[in-house]
Formats: sequence, structure tokens, C-alpha cells
Amino acid sequence: MARLEALYPRSWAVPGDPGGLLLGHPESRVDAVLVALEVCAPVVASARARGAQLLLTHHPLLYQPLAAVREDRPLGELVAALIKGGIAHAACHTNLDVAPEGVNDYLARLLELEDAEVLQETGRDEWYKLTVFVPAGYEDRVRQALADDRVGVIGRYSHCAFASRGQGTYIPLEGAQPFRGERGTLSRVEESRLEMVAPASRLDAAVSRMKAVHPYEEPAYDLYPLANPGPSLGFGRVGKWPAAQPFARVVDRVKEVFGVKQVKIWGRPPESVERLALCSGSGGDLIATARQRGAQVYLTGEVRHHQATPGYPEGFAVLEVGHFASEAVFIPEWAGQLRRHFQESGLQVRVEAAQEEAPFSYL
Ligand SMILES: [Zn+2]
Repeated sequence: MARLEALYPRSWAVPGDPGGLLLGHPESRVDAVLVALEVCAPVVASARARGAQLLLTHHPLLYQPLAAVREDRPLGELVAALIKGGIAHAACHTNLDVAPEGVNDYLARLLELEDAEVLQETGRDEWYKLTVFVPAGYEDRVRQALADDRVGVIGRYSHCAFASRGQGTYIPLEGAQPFRGERGTLSRVEESRLEMVAPASRLDAAVSRMKAVHPYEEPAYDLYPLANPGPSLGFGRVGKWPAAQPFARVVDRVKEVFGVKQVKIWGRPPESVERLALCSGSGGDLIATARQRGAQVYLTGEVRHHQATPGYPEGFAVLEVGHFASEAVFIPEWAGQLRRHFQESGLQVRVEAAQEEAPFSYL
């Protein structure tokens, strides 16, 4: 839960949005996590069959205050099934929507948008300066490890770092296993002071990774909060393709990416599209924002009739792929990301993506 909080802080969620641990004991042991879009009977059964003690979803099961847990009612039945199965439930909802590498970033990546920016900013991740002292000759190894964790990314530049040489000193005390030097003797070592910027949400992972590759038993490092505004967080993304795409090809690509046979089109689409905005889930509120940001097409999960209908502007269209399709596509990706993050934190936890979700069908 601490690792999830570091990746998707609760403070990033919209006010009143439930999330975090919603059911279960915070000190129970977890060997396996099942990741799904939402809690439903087949997913709970799957969690039991797979021996998962935590069911992590994007949609929180307990969205409204619960007045009764009656097993003859659908919600109570699910709550009871989780408790009886010894399965805890946690959710990352709007904090996952806005997160770097979260649902919307992934959709922009799937559609190969370039220069994707946040469509509607909700806040900023905070910048920190991570400064680590590295023995001469080990700078590349530490820099690379941090860069692999997206530390030192400034705009379109990665691996941004500054290294300055100097002399470090230390006396290894009783019980120390020094990489260089003798116990009880002052060591003078040629070291580099390596500096990189890291967003707050990456700090835990970055420090663990740095420690894992640093040759010292006790790496010396400092974290400084910076006043520079950090990376933008928010709903939706807007970006462009290097060359305009025929609208028909955009629709084909959208169907392919989201695995849907049909896409609802609102408005009067342009013949070719260069700039596309998107928002996972219910993104009807951002139609006007998408137009203002110069998008010719706005793709979202679902819109309400009156959100889409004020006027039918020429050369602008809304593509509705379905709420479920717009988010379900992220679930296997999310499981993969979490597997990597947990592994990097030294957590021996199996992470699997649910395959059993099919909340509706067409006749
Ligand atoms: Zn949703």
C-alpha cells in the first residue's frame, strides 16, 4: 500500500473520490495481487482461485457510503465474498487517471501521439533534487540506473545529470564492510557528486534503485525540495501525429487499440486529423477543453447526450469507445508496471491481471 501511495498519492485524487485500502486489514500478508478494472463476482472468484489476497482495481467498489451489508443484494454479496475469501480490496481511481504512466498517458502512447500534454491540469508533481556521492568510475552505472527509473528527465531530454569531482572522507566503524578503506582509519576517496532531478512520485523507487547499484554499503545522498514547478498532472492528454491521418484510418486504429467493433461518432469529423485529445472513462466534461486545445478529434469512454450535442461544429468530432473499453485496455499494462515497481522495491509479490471482466455484450 505504501508503494501504491508513492506511485499514485491519494492527494492526486479528486476530492471525495474513495481509494486506497477500502476493505481488509492493513497488516495482512499479501503474496499475490489481482489487478482488475472493477470488483465483480467473476473477478472475486478469480482472485480466490489464484490465491490472491489483494484485489486492486481502478474503480472503487465502495463508492457510496454503505448502510447495510446484505448478502441478498449485489454489493453486499461482493463485500461478503471478499471478506469470506480473505481478500482485501484497494483502488486507485482518479489518482491513477492523472498519474504519469497512468491510464491517460498509456492511451496517448497506444495511439502514438507525439508531445502529449495534460488536457486538464489538476496539480503538479513536486520536483526534488537527488544528489548522490559516487566513487570515481561508478558515475555511469548510478546515472543509468536512475535514468532507467525516469529520474533526470527535463522536457524532451532524459539522462540529465551534473557530476562534479571532489574528495569524500569517512571512517568505517565497528561492523562496517567498507567498499574501500580500513576500519578505524580515515579514508579519502575521489568521488563525484551526481545531481539529478526527480519528481516526488518517483523518489522511493529512485532511491531504492540507486542503493541497489551503488557500490557503497551506505550510499550518502541528499534530497532537496525544489521551488521549480514539477511535471503537470491531470485528466486527459492532447497530442499530435507527425503527419495528418485520414479520419477513417484514425477510427480503424481506435477500434484496433481498444478492441471494439464499433465507435460512436458525434459531430462532423474533419477529413484528416493531426491533433487528437483523449480522456479515459467519462470524459464528456472535457469536450470544450479539447476543442480549445486545438484537437480535431476527442476520444473518450462515454459522454452524455447533452454534453455532446450543443452545436455540431464543422471539423470536430467526439469518438466514444465505451467507458469499459477505454480503461480495460490499461489493466494488463498496469499489472506489468506494478510487477516491475514491486520487484524494484524488493517486494516478493505476484501480480496478475484479471481476464474475466465482461460487464456487457451486444446482441
Ligand atoms: Zn472509469
